[in-house]
Amino acid sequence: MELEFVGAAREVTGSCHILRVAGKTVVLDCGMFQGRRSDSHEKNLRLPVPIEQIDAVVLSHAHIDHAGRLPFLVRHGYDGPISCTPATRDLCAVMLADSAHIQEKDAEFLARRGKEPVEPLYALRHSTRTIELMTGIPYRRAFDVVPGVRATFIDAGHILGSATVVLDCTEGGTTRRLVFSGDIGRSGLPIIRDPETPEDADLVVMESTYGNRTHESVEGARARLAAVIRDTASRGGRVLIPAFAVGRTQELVYDLHVLARAGAIPAIPIYIDSPLAIDTTSVFEMHPDIFDRGEELVQKVHDLFRFNLVHYTRDVEESKALARMHGPMVIIAASGMVESGRILHHLAQGASDPRNTVLIVGFQAEHTLGRRIVERRPLLRIFGDDVPLRAEVVIINGYSAHADRTELSSWIDRVREHSPRLRQVWLVHGEPPAQGELATTLSVKGLAVGCPAPRERHDF
Ligand SMILES: [Zn+2]
Ligand SMILES: [Zn+2]
Repeated sequence: MELEFVGAAREVTGSCHILRVAGKTVVLDCGMFQGRRSDSHEKNLRLPVPIEQIDAVVLSHAHIDHAGRLPFLVRHGYDGPISCTPATRDLCAVMLADSAHIQEKDAEFLARRGKEPVEPLYALRHSTRTIELMTGIPYRRAFDVVPGVRATFIDAGHILGSATVVLDCTEGGTTRRLVFSGDIGRSGLPIIRDPETPEDADLVVMESTYGNRTHESVEGARARLAAVIRDTASRGGRVLIPAFAVGRTQELVYDLHVLARAGAIPAIPIYIDSPLAIDTTSVFEMHPDIFDRGEELVQKVHDLFRFNLVHYTRDVEESKALARMHGPMVIIAASGMVESGRILHHLAQGASDPRNTVLIVGFQAEHTLGRRIVERRPLLRIFGDDVPLRAEVVIINGYSAHADRTELSSWIDRVREHSPRLRQVWLVHGEPPAQGELATTLSVKGLAVGCPAPRERHDF
């Protein structure tokens, strides 16, 4: 039995690992590499393993750095099963179609600028076929991936439908339990249940994104969100929130719903200005069975994402009309890192008004407009114009969907408590500084820890 690390090895994106058991080959995740276009495009063009060798694919969750290259496998002829949870399949239907669309737009944009054309990795038809190959399997129901590999999904508590994958691998009469953590979530996230603990693991492949960072608490984030809205409304300004349409937007709407019911925010209109967010919200509404039943709002309210203050704007004319409105309001729009999308129009119009607030709730990568806002640069370049940044800038880190260093450490403690045979942990999905710190923490606990490089192979 062998494990080969292909992507998200000593880096965060491109999650992909290959499992070889009893002559069969299983691909765990096939995510997109993200970052600087030139390096990542080349990595994205490389198939993780020859297509004819792949017997099955298992997907941990719908984020594009985990699922984003599945249509690329399909484009190159993959026509076998892809197993994931039902919510992951439905989120992928929205996200992989969007991914194909974005790639097409990027290619057109570069061509218009006379730059070196970048061919899209795949087209919409490949995304559509990918969804047809997906089988949705609920949590805690064991299924056969290939002869010799039986898998069970448990809730990773990261995003809707996210899974930790427990894989029982049998070869030559020996069975070993491999746990692939997927991305590990946090306790107390809105809507999403807390991460479940896998049991009886022999070895663990574990994410390490924030192995060296501490987040503010989820409750702290909600209280600060309320304060920002109260302050901005009292100045007569707008709160502009760039947010990822999938997941983050629904969490914000949910928290705003909690705050509105508690009378903690003034009754000002909240506009969700994103067609993708509208589609994603309907996916959430299809899966109430996996919401966190421990939360009061989930218990008491049927329509979590629709209440009197919230308005969803799908078409462009409605979106443009927001610019002509007066009075305080909240606008949530994509993209999360302010690279594209409707948030740019709202910032072009609103960033120069000191009554307004730009509220940053997600990670802002280098070389993005979002990062320039975080750095409070005096001028923002939007649609070729310099827009002075006079609005207040507030940053809330507590909405991260990833466990921080303390939560990762307590996750592995819980796993060990229920896994007497566990010795080996492979760290993936983290940059070297984060991996280094987490590796030290885990070694002190007596575990053998490795941070595999791309293409490293290990028997187990
Ligand atoms: Zn993720
Ligand atoms: Zn990830």
